[in-house]
Amino acid sequence: MKKVGFIGLGAMGLPMAQNLLKQGFELQVAQHVNPDPVIVLQKQGAQVHSNLVEVIRSSEVVISILPTDQELNEVLLSEEIIAAFQENAILIEMTSGSPDAIKNLDRVYRKNGIRILDAPVSGGTSGAENGTLTAMVGGDPFTLNEVEEVIGAMAKNVYSVGDVSTGKAIKAINQMLAGIHMIATSEAISLAKELDVDTAILKEVIGDSSGQSWMLMNKLDSIVNQQFDPGFKLKLMKKDVQIAVDEGRTSVLPIASLALQLYKLAEKEDGELDFAAISKNLIH
Ligand code: NDP
Repeated sequence: MKKVGFIGLGAMGLPMAQNLLKQGFELQVAQHVNPDPVIVLQKQGAQVHSNLVEVIRSSEVVISILPTDQELNEVLLSEEIIAAFQENAILIEMTSGSPDAIKNLDRVYRKNGIRILDAPVSGGTSGAENGTLTAMVGGDPFTLNEVEEVIGAMAKNVYSVGDVSTGKAIKAINQMLAGIHMIATSEAISLAKELDVDTAILKEVIGDSSGQSWMLMNKLDSIVNQQFDPGFKLKLMKKDVQIAVDEGRTSVLPIASLALQLYKLAEKEDGELDFAAISKNLIH
């Protein structure tokens, strides 16, 4: 399975595609709106097609990592796209989307004889660049075996988590926690400033204490310096917390619901900034 089509060459997709090229896969791409990633990839050896239908026709494995369910449905439920898949092709769908959308896609693709792995990732743009992402893969483990090298070129930790949609479910839960932890970290910094606590000392001490979190260790400096180049756009975090709150049909999720309101408010001004920009409204 050497020929790999890639759809969604953004902050995550471009470095993930570059890692596939480095591992010797024959990358197939097409431009969407922004030509820059395709130019970069062509220089590194990718084959560039005039449209996505040609990309899919030329690929044994297709990877998609699009912003939201909306683009996922627009692109992957198109009849032309479905008809273009090779016999025995596998779609590795890596968007952080909803469990319902991937279940529906799986239903349609099964009818058309196309196998899907539901494989969202965590680890941010640095994980994408370094090939150290965590992939949470829902779908048939034998199908996963067939494309293990492809996913392994992009991810260090590959978990087989259950049926299609379980990947999206675990990712939504991760994002609910990450979104809440970002707000909690911002509040911690706000309080540290008020109490004249040096934030470098705060990070060191809490790094060895029970209040520690990935967000505190990795995002404190960006928050303190108010550096919000994306990264992971705030509007995408809002989308993820929204998925978690929507999925919690019978669970009471008071903190996630409050976090969602805060991300919604911040999105109006700062949706294109890194999600650490939520701290702008919390630190004075
Ligand atoms: P970006 O907004 O940076 O990139 C999205 C990409 O999708 C762009 O290249 C865009 O192309 C392309 N695209 C949009 N619509 C279409 C379409 N109809 N056809 C083809 N391509 C299209 O998003 P990210 O890369 O940051 O995120 C992608 C997904 O990964 C999201 O679900 C996000 O939640 C998730 N994620 C993001 C992480 C991060 O740190 N950024 C970490 C983990 C997961 P163009 O620009 O040309 O329109």
